[in-house]
Amino acid sequence: MKKLTTLLWFRRDLRLHDHPALLHAVSTSATLFPVYCLEVPTKKRCGHLRWLFLLESLADLDSQLRALGSRLFVVRGKAPDVLPQLVKAWAVDQVLVQSSPEPFARARDEEVAQRVAKEGGEFHGFPGRTLFEVSQLLAGAGNGASDKGIPLPVTMTGFAKVADRLTVPKPEPAPTSIPLPLDSESALHQLKSLLDPVSFASLTGPHHDLSLPRISPTDHTVPELGLLTPLAARSPHTGGESHALARLDTYMSHTAKVLAFEKPKTSPAALPDPVTGLVDTTVLSPYMTYGCLSPRLFHSRITSAYRAAKGKHSKPPVSLLAQLYWREFFFAHGATVDGFELATEANPTCPTPIDWRLLSAADSDPEAHDDLKAWAEARTGYPWIDACMTQLRSEGWIHHLGRHSLACFLTRGDLYISWERGAEVFEDVLLDHDWALNRGNWAWLSGTSVFFRQWFRVYSPVKWGQSWDAEGKYIKRHLPQLAKFPKQYIYEPWKAPLAVQKQAGCIVGKDYPKPIVDHAEASKANMAKLKACFARGRDKNGAGEDEGDADED
Ligand code: FAD
Repeated sequence: MKKLTTLLWFRRDLRLHDHPALLHAVSTSATLFPVYCLEVPTKKRCGHLRWLFLLESLADLDSQLRALGSRLFVVRGKAPDVLPQLVKAWAVDQVLVQSSPEPFARARDEEVAQRVAKEGGEFHGFPGRTLFEVSQLLAGAGNGASDKGIPLPVTMTGFAKVADRLTVPKPEPAPTSIPLPLDSESALHQLKSLLDPVSFASLTGPHHDLSLPRISPTDHTVPELGLLTPLAARSPHTGGESHALARLDTYMSHTAKVLAFEKPKTSPAALPDPVTGLVDTTVLSPYMTYGCLSPRLFHSRITSAYRAAKGKHSKPPVSLLAQLYWREFFFAHGATVDGFELATEANPTCPTPIDWRLLSAADSDPEAHDDLKAWAEARTGYPWIDACMTQLRSEGWIHHLGRHSLACFLTRGDLYISWERGAEVFEDVLLDHDWALNRGNWAWLSGTSVFFRQWFRVYSPVKWGQSWDAEGKYIKRHLPQLAKFPKQYIYEPWKAPLAVQKQAGCIVGKDYPKPIVDHAEASKANMAKLKACFARGRDKNGAGEDEGDADED
């Protein structure tokens, strides 16, 4: 018989479909409190657009819960502090969560579990964030795979061999009814009778009703979160499970695109299709990050399309299915490698000490700080790089190869700045920021991790963009000040004669910056520096590194 009072703590699982913790709550509970903990003010690096995406996702979840007669209780405060208070006030028997693989999230959950236990509640974690559990991958890899602090294979071929032996559970539909919580008034009353007035006020938010922070409909500010600078526009990607499922349906309905998907052939310069709004890739990552879309549902839709095509589809590591494996790959390494977030040799996936500029954010190197700022503010003077950064800042998403260009330019390609500083900027601006995916991909792009050893392959900030979009339409869309430049100068406007610049209404050095670095010189110097670091590392560790000369893409 169902008799438990359950608190379902939503985190990066903002959906009702394919939610094992929710289904367990439905089958065991008489009363269910859906809760989200909002840390205000927060120390997290989370930009305005990402906050809006998160709030939209929470609003979507709340309205779906309300359609079932329930609601979302948005509690202000840190989870380890506020959840035990809720457990006590609402006489909760069990707190259920979708488990998180990140080391810091596991430590936090451990703390919450202990504090909840003191109030007489149990704490249980359920799968759903990833296709595979880390424990399954470790068991599948066996001890033989362990290599200097990296317990799982470092190549996709090796990783896929382990993953392919595991079964991905079938996605479950959303429940059609759920146990209800106490009505809002009683729930608040019980909290009020337990807490002192100050704690009650801070926990329940400015309207004292555990509702979501309000977003200004005119300028998108969120005063409660201190987001006070007006925004001209929100991201074109709106948060929430409903949007995620609609986008999944739209993309999957283009079967030919799904079957032929090959990541390196998708364009970082693609503009949205005027009818469908689609670009070459799915743009489902922000929804995956906040759990608005279950990875298992995404996986099952791709495998169904493959089955129907009787094997006529692209293959790993470039296929659409393989993209989900890359996500698993980085999550699993992030969960199992100590120091995974660092650009120093304290991270076993980056074993060679590299003399990056700004290895620490506190380094006193004013010139390097200026370079980092120019890159982050789309002022490098290379239109391809600045257009990628502008799209990222205004939309919160760019294509994978746009991210490659930005990351290569900041690190091995041009500015020789530590990838950790770049990862911090991305953490702020990406809608889809996920700690392990961001850090792992940055390490990769720096060319100094064991995941990718072709450090001598550098993306040209001119030729690479040109190879996708010779006309420069993408640049013109994101950098309107360059819109009138003829195509032969759009990637290198500083080379245009003054008369051409005047005619285009944009003087380089005044209306658009001059290049902050000479790419040819800088990339050559960087290759020499990296080569020396790898040689020193080899002397020290006795381990080999791939040799190479500068090689431009
Ligand atoms: P699709 O190509 O349609 O792929 C489908 C899904 O597979 C994505 O939604 C995503 O969940 C997953 N995926 C695809 N490529 C990768 C990859 N290389 N690594 C991990 N998962 C992948 N992705 C994030 O989700 N969060 C991040 O914080 C993040 N930071 C990155 C930082 C850098 C420097 C780079 C180079 C890449 C980063 N990526 C990150 C990976 C990748 O760029 C995005 O996942 C992808 O571009 C999202 O677009 P999409 O949904 O159209 O992807």
